[in-house]
Amino acid sequence: MSERIKSEELMRYRANHDMLTNIPNRTLLMDRLEQAIARYRRNGDLAALLFMDLDHFKCINDSMGHHVGDMLLVEMAKRLRGICRELDMVARFGGDEFVMLLSDLGSDPRHAASDAELVAERIHEVLSHPFDIGLTEPLATSVSIGIAVVSHADQSAQDLLKFADSAMYQAKKEGRGAFCFYQEETNQWIKKRLLLENALRNSLKNGELEIFYQPIVEVKTKKIVGAEALLRWNHPQLGLMMPDEIIPIAEERGMIVSIGDWVMQEAFMQFRRWRDEHPNGKELTHIAINVSAIQFRQKDFVEKVMGMIQNAQISPSMVEMELTESLFIDKIDSVIETMKRLRAVGINLSIDDFGTGYSSLSYLKRLPFATLKIDKGFVRDIMSDKDDALLIETILSIAQIFNLNVVAEGVEDIEQYEFLRQRNCDYYQGFLCSQPVPSKKFDSLLLENCKQMNEVAAS
Ligand code: C2E
Ligand code: MG
Ligand code: MG
Repeated sequence: MSERIKSEELMRYRANHDMLTNIPNRTLLMDRLEQAIARYRRNGDLAALLFMDLDHFKCINDSMGHHVGDMLLVEMAKRLRGICRELDMVARFGGDEFVMLLSDLGSDPRHAASDAELVAERIHEVLSHPFDIGLTEPLATSVSIGIAVVSHADQSAQDLLKFADSAMYQAKKEGRGAFCFYQEETNQWIKKRLLLENALRNSLKNGELEIFYQPIVEVKTKKIVGAEALLRWNHPQLGLMMPDEIIPIAEERGMIVSIGDWVMQEAFMQFRRWRDEHPNGKELTHIAINVSAIQFRQKDFVEKVMGMIQNAQISPSMVEMELTESLFIDKIDSVIETMKRLRAVGINLSIDDFGTGYSSLSYLKRLPFATLKIDKGFVRDIMSDKDDALLIETILSIAQIFNLNVVAEGVEDIEQYEFLRQRNCDYYQGFLCSQPVPSKKFDSLLLENCKQMNEVAAS
């Protein structure tokens, strides 16, 4: 019996795998692709195919012999398998063609395309090191990659392959070692995104970045007591770009540290100018900056920030660093370490967008936060949604237990303000006071606010 089971298993393995490279073959790939498409139809989970073709393989085969070609394919398969996630699959499709199937890419086509793009880059990367297969010299090769993302419920596995294949030919045309997307619209999106990336790279030295400031208002008195620095990019053609479009690119493409450094320097300097030169500047007690996880995880982060603070001649206790819950997903010990060091030099930490991420109450207890910022998503519906109202009340009482200041974000109307005032929320930000504005505009906001404060005091 067991002999029979074994031989059946072996047969099944052989039917589904390529004997030379020992990776899945076309049959198994098509099977998995059908499943992925079925999942897309059922829950909208996107999948992508990367069709790879070795450049100049025929040349290698003809000039060096088939055994060299074979060895190269075996080594390539190993490297490709090395970068393949467990739920993805790399298969030998035939001759010198390999196909990688990426599954469960989420439901946003742009994210899926960008994931596929990253994998294509990774493939180029791992195959860019020459292969040492016992020849006198290591053998350098490259592949052209065509990418197709499933985009319609009526696409079949065959369609998708055809798309990826034709995109691969497009990539060959663009020069070997390239990759190309099939879908016209995705293609457009990638092109636009690449243009943006390059433009962002130059934005700093072209002086296109700017900081807007949003007042932080004391609820009880309506007095402006601080400012949050929010990044803007004046794109020469596209106009004013918001952080949601800038930060993800900057993070993915390794620009967030230089941009983040610039934001801090600029904001600290501006804060010093307000304190020294604005008639009411002394009313401002703090400047808040947003710090992304990548910035925060730099080894020399604390020293660097302190350098900038000293350079701007402000007190560390006037700096609030806004962190998001994404920081706590990974390497929590070193994150806590950095937080403690920041606290030790007097910098205040706040937790931004509270309630949208991974926060657990134990963080609030363990981590040295001074302030909690309630995400605007909860504030928006406090007047109409009982659950949101209750949630805010709960957050406020938790904050009290942990001795945290609370800032409510996104306060747009007077009813929301009243709700918060009655429940002793400490500060708010929102359009009710002002949108984020350029520094010059902030000057006049502050003047106006102080005038009102004086009038109230006089009456
Ligand atoms: P955030 O820190 O939670 O900032 C608050 C966001 O809410 C800002 O969006 C602000 O314009 C918006 N907002 C303020 N009041 C209201 C209101 O009453 N109603 C509504 N609907 N929205 C309001 P913005 O400027 O687009 O910034 C988005 C996010 O980008 C920020 O969220 C922050 O997480 C991030 N960000 C901004 N600047 C930087 C930066 O320099 N570095 C990093 N790492 N992230 C930044
Ligand atoms: Mg913030
Ligand atoms: Mg926020």
